[in-house]
Amino acid sequence: MKSISSQFRIPEIAGADASPAAKIQCVYHGWQYGEQCEMCELERERAERSMFAKCESMGLAPRYHCIRFDDYRTELPGQAKAVEAARKFIAGDYHVLVLRGSDRSEGYGTGKTMLSAIILYERLIESGSAGIYSTADRLIAELKDSIEAKSGETQRIKDRYIKVGLLVIDELLADPMSGWAGKQISDIIAERIDYGRQTIIASNRDAKKIAGALHPRTMDRLQACSVGVVFDWPSERGAA
Ligand SMILES: [Zn+2]
Repeated sequence: MKSISSQFRIPEIAGADASPAAKIQCVYHGWQYGEQCEMCELERERAERSMFAKCESMGLAPRYHCIRFDDYRTELPGQAKAVEAARKFIAGDYHVLVLRGSDRSEGYGTGKTMLSAIILYERLIESGSAGIYSTADRLIAELKDSIEAKSGETQRIKDRYIKVGLLVIDELLADPMSGWAGKQISDIIAERIDYGRQTIIASNRDAKKIAGALHPRTMDRLQACSVGVVFDWPSERGAA
């Protein structure tokens, strides 16, 4: 992982006429006794903690916090294509980015979650707006729980997923999905497109299986405004 410090670097200038004990002059905090400005160091640490906390609150697991394109391997042509599509998605070329497996190979451990996390973080740095990362199962379980608890919160939960700036729905069809679950996910994706919100859908399944699980109305919209990337190279999970 690339050090986060490069993102928050604050210039420090060595001075020729420093007072006897001071070694460096910080452009923000004046003469400092030591190798680096302690105030800048504190500010950098605070910024770093805040970015990690934001990644946590977006729903990302710690291994996916604050990762950038530099952390993503692009040795294979498919990986380079995936990055190209991701950059175009960030630039706003598509409403929906579909990261999927193929009928030849289901794309386990090929970096779909990692690429999704990179896009969430890029968006966070660029615009300061946090998105939501969820697996399809987690999202469905949240809706189901609220219905069973008769909490009256179901629509509010759905609206949160519909209106957030960037939503990642990972591991779609990791388990077989009921018709009801497929409809909930389809509604959320379709409404997000109507609201002009961007969505990433990641699944190890192929295009046919994904199409079979989603509502035809949603598939129509998807065809008009999405780009699909096939992740069919061998798993890199566990690789350095
Ligand atoms: Zn300083």
